[in-house]
Amino acid sequence: MNTVERELRSQIISKALWMNNSGLNQGTSGNISARYEDRMLITPSGIPYETLEPESISSMPIDGEYGTWEGLFKPSSEWRFHLDIMRARPEVNAVVHTHSIYATTLAMARRDVPAAHYMVAIFGGDSVRCSEYATYGTKELSDYALQALAGRNACLLANHGMLVTGPSLEKAMWLAQELETLCRQYYQALLIGGPVILSDENIADTMKTISSYGLQDKKE
Ligand code: 13P
Ligand code: ZN
Repeated sequence: MNTVERELRSQIISKALWMNNSGLNQGTSGNISARYEDRMLITPSGIPYETLEPESISSMPIDGEYGTWEGLFKPSSEWRFHLDIMRARPEVNAVVHTHSIYATTLAMARRDVPAAHYMVAIFGGDSVRCSEYATYGTKELSDYALQALAGRNACLLANHGMLVTGPSLEKAMWLAQELETLCRQYYQALLIGGPVILSDENIADTMKTISSYGLQDKKE
């Protein structure tokens, strides 16, 4: 393993630890993947994040034989949606899946997240959809996730959790945190009678600038 791959594996582990320490996720729920050349690096299934070392991260070919893997442990049970997203979207370099509380609460009610706050636009449109339900770890779940992701970089997974995609691990984790916040805000607005939903025009105006909002490169 060269130093670049080792560094990316270490970043996956630090993001997994951060995701649990920040309260965004808990236990061995959730999983994280990142693209490395023609392979996908992904957290192993059911292994506590505190015990992970770079060698513990599983590696799968993106376009090779579906489901083959290398490593010390079998890959996350959700490798199918991680891999199918990487195959379908060459611009995606990282995928984060969590069972964060508010996103999962809405997913349990099978609710889409509407344009109740302008920040919904960072996910690519006027809503974040909730997928149809399928058993965890199945190809059916992956197919439903990809449907719900059409034109978006995030979706809820019915009765399960959320997933987000990004051009980098940093950006994907930022989006995951923002989605959890948006779900929490929407849930709370529902408790006081329901939010006012922004118009198509409001969202179109926001979309003009928001794609460049968020993590910035430092000015040289
Ligand atoms: P893994 O431990 O296999 O990644 O499973 C966690 C999970 O979130 C399943 O949906
Ligand atoms: Zn899950």
